[in-house]
Amino acid sequence: MSTQFQFQTEVSQLLNIVVNSLYSNKEVFLRELISNSSDAIDKARVLSLTDKSVDEKQWEIRLNIDNDAKTLTITDNGIGMNLEDAKVALGTIAHSGTKAFMEKMAEGGDTAADLIGQFGVGFYASFMVADKVTVLSQRVPENGKTSKAIKWESSLKEGAYSLVELDNPRTEGTEIILHMGEDSDNFLETYTIKELVKRYSNFISYPIVMQEETVVPVDNTDTDTDTDADADTDADTTEETTTEMKDVTLNSMQALWMRPKSEVTDDEYNQFYKQQTRDFLDPFKTIHYRAEGTNEFNAMLFIPSKVQLDIYYKDYKIGPTLYVRRVQIMENCEQLVPLHLRFVKGIVDSNDLPLNVSREILQNNKQVDMIRKSISKKILSTLKNTLKNERDEYAKFYGEFGKVLKEGVHYDMERKEDVAALLLFESTATEPGSFTTLDEYIERLPENENNIHYITGQSKSQLQESPYIEELQSKGIEVIFGTDDIDDMIFRTLGAFKGKQLLSAADATPKTNDDDDNKDETKLSDEETSFVDFLKEALTNNVSDVVPSTRLRSYPSLLTNQGFAPDPHMQRILESMGQEYTPPKKGMEINMNHELVKKLQQLHAKDANSDDLKGYAQLLYDNAVVSEGGTLDNPGDYVKRVTNLMTKIL
Ligand code: ADP
Repeated sequence: MSTQFQFQTEVSQLLNIVVNSLYSNKEVFLRELISNSSDAIDKARVLSLTDKSVDEKQWEIRLNIDNDAKTLTITDNGIGMNLEDAKVALGTIAHSGTKAFMEKMAEGGDTAADLIGQFGVGFYASFMVADKVTVLSQRVPENGKTSKAIKWESSLKEGAYSLVELDNPRTEGTEIILHMGEDSDNFLETYTIKELVKRYSNFISYPIVMQEETVVPVDNTDTDTDTDADADTDADTTEETTTEMKDVTLNSMQALWMRPKSEVTDDEYNQFYKQQTRDFLDPFKTIHYRAEGTNEFNAMLFIPSKVQLDIYYKDYKIGPTLYVRRVQIMENCEQLVPLHLRFVKGIVDSNDLPLNVSREILQNNKQVDMIRKSISKKILSTLKNTLKNERDEYAKFYGEFGKVLKEGVHYDMERKEDVAALLLFESTATEPGSFTTLDEYIERLPENENNIHYITGQSKSQLQESPYIEELQSKGIEVIFGTDDIDDMIFRTLGAFKGKQLLSAADATPKTNDDDDNKDETKLSDEETSFVDFLKEALTNNVSDVVPSTRLRSYPSLLTNQGFAPDPHMQRILESMGQEYTPPKKGMEINMNHELVKKLQQLHAKDANSDDLKGYAQLLYDNAVVSEGGTLDNPGDYVKRVTNLMTKIL
């Protein structure tokens, strides 16, 4: 049987990056391995609660330095791995964070060091310090089924590792032996290791134990039987001592969240957060509170400073860790936060849920619903305060998580207005780099104006020039720019904000206060009416209607939504998601005062059957498609028409 295996290509690439990057924070390898051990113990522990064949043990993580062999060994008595587990876990990229890391790396821009810090590369971080890594493991039996112990080893040569099953069973759990590289000697010092555990792994809930040389008195009780009390005291002070290896626990293991808020320092919060999330940055906000009454729980929640790159992935792990009375039940309990707050990390410790809860039970649990609502409210009110009191900080947060938060308008019907109040937008009135909230927009509205005008598209610079907002702008009415993919949907779901109607400038006939003044502008002569009818006829396959515009200034024509239709940008997204979608036909507004339109109308009056007219009508339509940021059905035809026209003129 072959014992040599190739790493999955992605792993080889990852290892290349890890080994060759000049990463100054190599020390995080220990945090990663201890964290894996802690996860492995969690798993074994959960099994021991449900599977009789798995023993409850004195759970621990052990560190051992061997200066002669130049090894650091991390041992746990957790779940362990069998041959198949090890092949997947230590030979492929199974973890979504690592996958996102690789994709980000491929995009370029960030340095490997930045990215390693942000993601943590898990087990593979071992190779930042070790030349060779040996893993010995014994899986705990499941449903009484045992598997053979394994030995996995790699020194990275030729992108390969060896993996064999061992003849003799081992103690359950995993032992990871790091054969330290030449420039990683410092990780063979007891002092360094102790410091690293304190810094990164202090709140791991299992003891992290190391044998340490401890000074102990020499036991000579036999020889001092005949001394008096005074002599005895003297003897004590001059007593001989010797050194002995003793177990010391390096971490504090506290349930930090149980302590009153006033007694926890920022530093402790930050440490806890980093250890729990493997983030290398301090959190943006920490929210620590206790709910009392019929549904008691402690929550310690964190909003990270930077968005996790995999947050838009399907397998992004959502939700805080759930504890029940200090026992960890499950990581990433997604029932505890609404989707639009999925960036929130931390822990929730319930006093009332049963210890044996499963994900299924959590789905329809009233208490869990109450916790989620409470958390939701707390986070939104924290954000509201930040927006009010620390605008710049808030803008940074928004830059990271705004897109996710925004989904709340869609998902959280109960609080959609609270979420909407937290959104930031550029508008025709904002300075470059600054933003407005909907509340601020309303404050600036003229007294009798009851609408919030917006337009969606790809960027402020594109939208600023949009024909749709010409009229509003000329009237001095501010227009909000929705430049995120989902803004169109968000505005439409929201519908109104604080009693003001949200109106898309791209919809037909947006109402403004002085609409009445415009009425007679649209009175047409018979010749003009006949021209408009001609356009309707000529464009019958393209638009549902052609109407004279009351709002166009410098553009000859534009398209308007008739009823609900996603904007062109949103349409492309829907299509890319494989959603078959045929939008309803749009209407076309035509600017009767435009030079070009006037000339066409005259041409039509002179010769209604002119060959060129149909082509010109098509061009008016094509131009309108382009100016709404849409895609032409047939760009070739368009180019041909324009080319012909130019040739004619020149
Ligand atoms: P992650 O922990 O993020 O999943 P890692 O690369 O650190 O990614 O680990 C990959 C997998 O290897 C883990 O998901 C787990 O299945 C397995 N593993 C790592 N360390 C241990 C351990 N000490 N005991 C049991 N399994 C482990």
